[in-house]
Amino acid sequence: MSSIISDLKHIIGGEVSGIEEDLIAVSQDFGGVIQKQPQVVVRPQNSIDVAKAVKYAAEQELTISSRAAGHSLNGQSLNQGGILLDMRSLNQVHEFHSDRLWFKADAGTTWQKVVDISIPQGVIPPVLTNNFEVTLGGTHSAGGLGQNSFRYGSQADNCLGLEVVTGTGDLVWCTPEQNSELFYHVLCGYGQFGIITQIQHRLRQYRPFTRTYFLCYDDLDLLLNDERLLVLEDRVDGLLSLFSPCVLGFSRTGENGIQPLIQWFYRMQITLEVDSANETKEEKLLSSLNFYRHIHTEVLTFDKFILPVAQVPHPVGTANAWLDVLLPESVAKQYIETALKIIPSFINFRNTPIGSFCMASRNTKMPMFPLPEEELIVGFGMYPTIPKTQLSSVLEQLNILTDLGFKMGGKRYMVSWIEFDLPQWRLQFGDYWPKVNEMKRKYDPQGILNSGFFQYEQVTHSQTDKQETQITKAVAAEYRIAI
Ligand SMILES: Cc1cc2nc3c(=O)[nH]c(=O)nc-3n(C[C@H](O)[C@H](O)[C@H](O)COP(=O)(O)OP(=O)(O)OC[C@H]3O[C@@H](n4cnc5c(N)ncnc54)[C@H](O)[C@@H]3O)c2cc1C
Repeated sequence: MSSIISDLKHIIGGEVSGIEEDLIAVSQDFGGVIQKQPQVVVRPQNSIDVAKAVKYAAEQELTISSRAAGHSLNGQSLNQGGILLDMRSLNQVHEFHSDRLWFKADAGTTWQKVVDISIPQGVIPPVLTNNFEVTLGGTHSAGGLGQNSFRYGSQADNCLGLEVVTGTGDLVWCTPEQNSELFYHVLCGYGQFGIITQIQHRLRQYRPFTRTYFLCYDDLDLLLNDERLLVLEDRVDGLLSLFSPCVLGFSRTGENGIQPLIQWFYRMQITLEVDSANETKEEKLLSSLNFYRHIHTEVLTFDKFILPVAQVPHPVGTANAWLDVLLPESVAKQYIETALKIIPSFINFRNTPIGSFCMASRNTKMPMFPLPEEELIVGFGMYPTIPKTQLSSVLEQLNILTDLGFKMGGKRYMVSWIEFDLPQWRLQFGDYWPKVNEMKRKYDPQGILNSGFFQYEQVTHSQTDKQETQITKAVAAEYRIAI
């Protein structure tokens, strides 16, 4: 047994394992693109265990990473050669107040557990993602977007308080008012500034039924105009668009031989929460929209409506190379049209889910979740499962789509495939990038937390002092952070 394992066994109340089988089990994530293997896995029993493990890592100059359900897609939660904290062992709901509309739970608790407690009490967390097996800590560290994020923001936007272990092993409770700087950087911070051990999160009341309208568009402009109207005027309770290709023939005139002639159709699903199954409010709503065909109306009880839509298959030898780009509305049409032209040249476009979602910048206020500078944000997502043999050529194309997004003023949702070089990190965070570097040095001075995902600036002290003071003041004012 290595001395690290025996040391940790001495100081940690929870489980410590260096067994090959345990290490392999945490060496990949849902993406299957990156592989990293830690030296030891720690399953903490409580927040104190997390703090002790971080302090030990700092003393021994080991890296330490927080991994939860491992549903990230590019190694965001993996660790090479250091300590991996398997946060799923912290999974208790401590307080649940349906009357005061909040709950408090361990970071490794799954959203499924929270939903199971919430639904019978007539309340629900404001935003749910399309996967309940992921954890509170995992999505608060990324953002967590759902069909109604245009109204309620991300899951991180609905966080009321966090218990955090910093990179120096200090255990801190933080809220928008107390230790607010740490609060606003740990949220959507991918474990870079601290490890979340407990979370206090909002609840809302829900109506018992939903009516979802499936509307088909054959014109992207009309779809985007209708999305704008529905989102900015807050006319619906949920909105999601999925794109379907239809091969309408083949052309023999192209340089690369026979080419399919693809017409894309856009299916917008809009949802209203209602008090009874028969309550219809659609006439006025639908008559204001410009769809090509109303395909279907689905009436569901609320508990059925929120269930994640589809399981993603993950056959052996495949990788999930997913991409989410956040676009200013003004360029969304141009970007999406370009992407839809390129996509059939490098993936099997017939069975790749492709679609869009909306966010309103007035409702999303997380400094670590960079957004384009416009009122309405259009998300474009594609979620291919591909043979690993095709990985490098597909990733090359995803990088081209990433750069195109940056050129048009877009940002990436960092939860999916991300392999930024330093210039891309600077583009992702824009003017906020120096502050991100400053926060890393402040809360993780040895750079031991989740190393290998973010790439930081190498700067001298004299350079930073001046820069940081300016940025800090500007940012503090913008986000009302006490400094
Ligand atoms: C099938 C599928 C569907 C999805 N649908 C959606 C969706 O609808 N909306 C959406 O927004 N996302 C979606 N995602 C992405 C998913 O929500 C994120 O990848 C999320 O971060 C996964 O959480 P996890 O518990 O698996 O965390 P992990 O993947 O284990 O970790 C994710 C990140 O969080 C950090 N982290 C984990 N726990 C902690 C902690 N306690 N403290 C500090 N940092 C921590 C990790 O270090 C890592 O950087 C989907 C993913 C899949 C595979």
